[in-house]
Amino acid sequence: MQRIAVLTSGGDSPGMNAAIRAVVRKAIYHGLEVIGIQRGFSGFIEADMGPLNLSSVADIIHRGGTMLRTARSEEFKSIKGRAKAYANVERFGIQGLVVIGGDGSLKGADIFHREYQLPVIGVPGTIDNDIAGTDFSIGFDTAINTVVEAINKIRDTATSHERTFILEVMGRECGYIALMAGLAGGAESILIPELDFSIDEICEKLYRGYKRGKLHSIIIVAEGAASGLEIGRQIRDRTGLETKVTILGHLQRGGTPTAFDRILASRMGAKAVELLMSGYHKHMVGMVDGRIVAHPLEAAFQEAKPVDLEIYNLAGVLSI
Ligand code: ATP
Repeated sequence: MQRIAVLTSGGDSPGMNAAIRAVVRKAIYHGLEVIGIQRGFSGFIEADMGPLNLSSVADIIHRGGTMLRTARSEEFKSIKGRAKAYANVERFGIQGLVVIGGDGSLKGADIFHREYQLPVIGVPGTIDNDIAGTDFSIGFDTAINTVVEAINKIRDTATSHERTFILEVMGRECGYIALMAGLAGGAESILIPELDFSIDEICEKLYRGYKRGKLHSIIIVAEGAASGLEIGRQIRDRTGLETKVTILGHLQRGGTPTAFDRILASRMGAKAVELLMSGYHKHMVGMVDGRIVAHPLEAAFQEAKPVDLEIYNLAGVLSI
């Protein structure tokens, strides 16, 4: 193998730059050439790509977002779109591809491999941490730290005004951000899409808290579970308590990656290159129990990532 390519796809996540840097530097260290593809599968189709060298990836390890930019490409979902991408594989002499992105991106990579047998390695990069086969995806740690920082700030004003705050966080159909940030931030209730919840129980818990002198309450709602505004309205209607809703939105995707995400991304990016050089052709890298491992690519999207019930129950016990 002499020349590989790398792209980032789907939603950006903090740490993607560190992963690109690791792919490029590890590959060059082993004598490979690297092509950087801009704007995910869109740039793959449109030949928006060029060589990367050691200094192309200098000074990016600490930056959020992705220097290769990212996109969602409808065209890549069609046979015709992927055929255009393959024409560029031949034109640029690409012999292996590293795709950094969420489950959709890894699915696209898998389909492309099935059609054209180009060796592909997926690197899980999404703040949602919704990819099976890895304990963590790149960007999740930074995102939950951002949410916890927001909870800390909201807690200050919530205490001063004795209010109930509802914080809606990202995660699509997955409750990991809500769950882990809720535990770390000491939220009273955490609403996630994987598990049923009862507004009556949430309201009862609020009453119990206020009765024993609690000055504020914070409820975390994963976007896939419910609308924060709707939960706020329902609680207000039932309890008469003043509720304030904050929707954190895209600020959860930005910011400088935490040390954890930089280390994870560096290890995963380097592992992806190692796998390509060792002849793996359709795999994803994952972190399992602290070790970087390889799984068949379909592990990323065939199974849903199970919710961590131990953490969920612990958060319930600690916020009683
Ligand atoms: P995030 O989790 O941050 O949203 P993602 O990678 O899951 O990231 P998607 O929008 O689902 O984001 O997928 C990114 C891109 O991957 C799509 O725009 C498309 O180009 C490609 N893709 C997704 N699903 C498929 C598919 N079934 N076939 C071919 N390409 C796909």
